[in-house]
Amino acid sequence: MCSTSSSSIRRDKPHATHSSPPPSRRTRRATRAVKVGGVQIGDGAPVSVQSMTKCPTTAVNEVLAQIDATRAAGADLVRLAVPTAKALTGFAEIKRRSPLPLVADIHFDHRLAIGAAEAGADKLRINPGNIGGPDRLAAVAEAARDRGIPIRVGVNAGSLEADLAGAHGGPTPAALCESAFRSIGLLAEVGFHDVVVSIKASDVTRTVEANRLLAERSDLPLHLGITEAGFGLAGIVGSAAGLGILLDEGIGDTIRVSLTEPPEREVEVGIEVLKALGLRGGPRLVSCPTCGRCKVDLRPVAEAVREGLRAITTDLTVAVMGCEVNGPGEAKEADAGLAAGGGKAVLFLRGEKLHTVPIGRAAEALLAEVRKLAEE
Ligand code: SF4
Repeated sequence: MCSTSSSSIRRDKPHATHSSPPPSRRTRRATRAVKVGGVQIGDGAPVSVQSMTKCPTTAVNEVLAQIDATRAAGADLVRLAVPTAKALTGFAEIKRRSPLPLVADIHFDHRLAIGAAEAGADKLRINPGNIGGPDRLAAVAEAARDRGIPIRVGVNAGSLEADLAGAHGGPTPAALCESAFRSIGLLAEVGFHDVVVSIKASDVTRTVEANRLLAERSDLPLHLGITEAGFGLAGIVGSAAGLGILLDEGIGDTIRVSLTEPPEREVEVGIEVLKALGLRGGPRLVSCPTCGRCKVDLRPVAEAVREGLRAITTDLTVAVMGCEVNGPGEAKEADAGLAAGGGKAVLFLRGEKLHTVPIGRAAEALLAEVRKLAEE
């Protein structure tokens, strides 16, 4: 059975709220706060987005380039695997130069975890069950406590303890949840409670169920992800479905979309998931799918507008519509929009018709109006 511990019992306090257009439908689950560098996770903080660099930390400049790309895409923090002493040396150098808080991901060797904390890691990601026993776990916890950094305990269906898999008949949601509480309990035994938890499986259903179980029984902040979600469209859809269900239920304090793709792509998808649920602000692009009524090549216009919006951080809705049937209505609903037709586009600003421009200049004309709105 999935159980709980005194360190993780849900506290009775008001739910935190978060709103940004469009407003989130659900109240966020009340959780404790942890600090990862300058980023708060939990207790009403905006859901943060993280990714993981995809080359060894010995390739310092390559990793820093990936960190820069994730930051440009909107990441709040980045995780790096630190599997060896050489990797730790690289991590220390990267930490000195990183513009984002860094999470050191460590298995098996407690000395690497302590070394990463000493090198300035902003969070450790360990599995308390494989770090070498209670004394070594206590040493890692002490190193983290001394520096005021949290620890994420992560449960993956693929590495569930054999005894739990046996007792539950496999890596079921209850087994995954119990494994998480086992790890939380090991840290509680050494007096460490500054914890973030993740439970991941490669399928949506188990991940959702296991996180629901954990959320019911604990107030620890949750890191959400579908592990090994995959490549391209399937990975994006799987992650969006799993994270979307939980986030819409108010569950989840930080997310990582795992894709077999560059880290900045993971961040872009994560941010779009949050925007779709009204959990992150910034510009929102409404673009019609086009149909037989559309008489212009709308896709390049929509793409140019989407690229231009990357530089905007203001909460705005921008519409790019393909014809004069539904286009004007949607464009009027938006803060700024265009309705194309007959080689031209009519621009709208806050519900009012502005002027008509040739379709070739439509994207830039619309972006110019958007920039003016953003400056206001
Ligand atoms: Fe078709 Fe016009 Fe609707 Fe676009 S706005 S999908 S072109 S009817």
